[in-house]
Amino acid sequence: MHNQNTVRVRFAPSPTGPLHMGGVRTALFNYLFARKQKGTFILRIEDTDQTRYVKGAEDYIIEALKWCGLEFDEGPVQGGEFGPYRQSERKKIYRKFADRLVESGHAYYAFDTSEELDAARKAAEAKGQTFSYNSKNRLSMQNSLALPKDDVKQRMAKEVPYVIRFKMPEDDVLVEDEDMIRGKVSFRTSELDDKVLFKADGMPTYHLANVVDDHLMEITHVIRGEEWLPSMPLHVLLYRAFGWDKPVFAHLPLILKPQGKGKLSKRDGDKLGFPVFPLKWTDPDTGEVSAGYREDGYFPEAFLNMLAFLGWNPGTDQEIFMPEQLIEAFSFDKVNKAGARFDPEKARWFNHQHLLMKTDEVLASLFGPVLVEKGIIPPPVDRLARIVGLVKERVSFVNELWDQSSFFFVAPETYDEKVVKKRWKGDIPAFIQELTEVFDGYDGEWEAMTLKEKVSGLINQKQLNFGGVMNCLRLALVGGSFGPDLFTIIEILGRDEVTERITKAVNTLGV
Ligand code: GLU
Repeated sequence: MHNQNTVRVRFAPSPTGPLHMGGVRTALFNYLFARKQKGTFILRIEDTDQTRYVKGAEDYIIEALKWCGLEFDEGPVQGGEFGPYRQSERKKIYRKFADRLVESGHAYYAFDTSEELDAARKAAEAKGQTFSYNSKNRLSMQNSLALPKDDVKQRMAKEVPYVIRFKMPEDDVLVEDEDMIRGKVSFRTSELDDKVLFKADGMPTYHLANVVDDHLMEITHVIRGEEWLPSMPLHVLLYRAFGWDKPVFAHLPLILKPQGKGKLSKRDGDKLGFPVFPLKWTDPDTGEVSAGYREDGYFPEAFLNMLAFLGWNPGTDQEIFMPEQLIEAFSFDKVNKAGARFDPEKARWFNHQHLLMKTDEVLASLFGPVLVEKGIIPPPVDRLARIVGLVKERVSFVNELWDQSSFFFVAPETYDEKVVKKRWKGDIPAFIQELTEVFDGYDGEWEAMTLKEKVSGLINQKQLNFGGVMNCLRLALVGGSFGPDLFTIIEILGRDEVTERITKAVNTLGV
């Protein structure tokens, strides 16, 4: 048995499609708890449902978690002493546990065909009820509790297909347990059905495989989404039936739509234009492509920071956390029961904040490839860092730096007509033209402050309007009325580029 102090948690996705951001949040909370407790974080692939298997989904899950930096201590890639970590490779393990439950009277064989089950469902519907295979009706079904022993034997000998079902207690038993987030939760067995544990195809169902593996892998805490809360009483009863210690449960709150009502779905993302998946996903059957946070330019640490706040808060005003800080601050006392509303604007804000935490040099190195894509040879890193530093406040993503700074790399082709009409008039154009000579003959330091002094002095001498000149000069240099401090732009563009741009503007717009 494991040392009682050693936390072992698992993230147990089913490879039935791309991992939803809610799944990444589940992985994250498992990871934070494991790291905080100096425990072990395990990846287990729950692929026993062959009908729902999707090609590429497992690789996608592994790549997505790697991109996020959620590193596993044990799992299908690196192995570990509790492996294999893919349930399809553990197939042989489960049967004997199902048999053990049959022997101890906690489970039974059921031979009902799908036609018989359909008929039972229809009969119930006709009476306005929903069919449930349970302690009240199981004696009227085709199973080893209802049929004579010999009949059961014969069917088994003839290999008539059957499933193994859990036998819910006949009495209405109260199942109570502590959930780390919800406190005491209770269920009545009269509300539960006899779930299938082992299928006719020789595979266990989720319930059996999940409980057996959590036990064999010595999982101490089961941290998963709220959608699994209804499975909790069955799982508790399974632990009891096996005579095993059960792990501590924590069911994380749902992630809700931006409007606040209902679970966040892929369709909400498509409708409102934000990703619900960590990485871009191409459906292998339909070819349909879904957006991913990575491809949309999110930093993994910003994505994690945003996800952490879907259901958790540190209890202080601090909102920006690096992953190590999340580990430090995380605790289940601060995880809410209530669903967490997803806000796409807030997601962008988190990325903006994490972008601002990076040095200008790092941002410049990330921006370089964007420039190359635009056909521009990136300037030396110190110059690019300077440019990035001037505009980064205005962007949330690295590729948005281009929209804010393209004029540093390409001269304007056109000039904003509204600005031309309003500003390019009177004595100012002639003065702007004169500035080419002024800059040519300028022998001071080519630096924003000194250049500003020089130009301001001339404006005063000629009694021109300072703002008017600035607007026109900006128009000539960037093509409109946007951008950071004009003299800083002049400094960075350099003498030759500045005079060239002025000449071009004067030639195009006239004096
Ligand atoms: N395979 C389940 C899933 O896809 C695991 C649920 C659990 O953690 O028990 O989410």
